[in-house]
Amino acid sequence: MNSYRFALQTACLLGALIVAYPAPAQLQSVTGVQIEYKEPANPAYRQIYERLKKRQVLEQYREFMSPLKLTRALNVSLTGCGVVNAFHSPSGITYCYELVDHVQRQVAETNVLPGFRREDAIVGGFVSTLLHETGHALFYLLEIPVFGREEDAADAIAAYVALQFGPRTARRILTGTAFVWRASELANQNRNRSFEFYSDEHGTDAQRFYNTLCIAHGSDIVEKTDTFVDFVPLLPENRRRKCGREYLHIKNSFARFVLPHVDQERMKTVRATEWLRSEDGSEVAPPRPLGPSSAPGPSGPGPNSPGTFSPTGPGLGKPK
Ligand SMILES: [Zn+2]
Repeated sequence: MNSYRFALQTACLLGALIVAYPAPAQLQSVTGVQIEYKEPANPAYRQIYERLKKRQVLEQYREFMSPLKLTRALNVSLTGCGVVNAFHSPSGITYCYELVDHVQRQVAETNVLPGFRREDAIVGGFVSTLLHETGHALFYLLEIPVFGREEDAADAIAAYVALQFGPRTARRILTGTAFVWRASELANQNRNRSFEFYSDEHGTDAQRFYNTLCIAHGSDIVEKTDTFVDFVPLLPENRRRKCGREYLHIKNSFARFVLPHVDQERMKTVRATEWLRSEDGSEVAPPRPLGPSSAPGPSGPGPNSPGTFSPTGPGLGKPK
């Protein structure tokens, strides 16, 4: 079992165990998102700590979350944990430097799909995990009922929230998220998995890869946009046909249970801001519309029809 997966399982198990308990009284006096970068005791994570602090990732997160009218505190801290982990508890979200480091290593070791970038996987993967934990926090803070697996719901709300950043940032986060799940799946593909492995409350990493693509594609269908046209050939047709409906379920649930707590005027301002600028200043534009002659195939761009592309196939690019 890979440690990232184990970490998420542990994290979410913790979240599930404690979600039923009331918030400690001392949290009631402060409201809204509270952030903290804790210096890591292990010098190995010093660089990660300094880079995240310099890039003000938590400040950006707090700003992005500012339209949400919380009547209680949501504490978010970056810290050294001694384990690869990120989790939500009644006292807030804890994101471990060890997890950032683990994802960075895994991304560096995996080949790159056409249109995907390692930098986006680092940044987008970080943000999507933060949004996933935020999903657990929202279920808890807003007392949102959840049908089905909370882990799937947290992934869904994370992807939906990412789509609210606007097309460029949404692309960075969701291509990055898909990259991370694919990298994690590929890193573990050759390990023997027990029957019990599939009893986990999370989907497999490959399923989470496809879920991410499907929500993004569903958004394009429902909102009549073309931000994720390059995801189409990555999705097998039998799943692709369901994506509009899957996205609508999330959109409707969000509208019913979260939007009543969102300041709409403030949200307009937040949506107009370009978040998560590329470190190298390069443009992260949505891709060119793909015609039949430019759809990527197993060997890269070529005359393959959508649906023939294997995300695990050879010739997808080499680690840089
Ligand atoms: Zn979770």
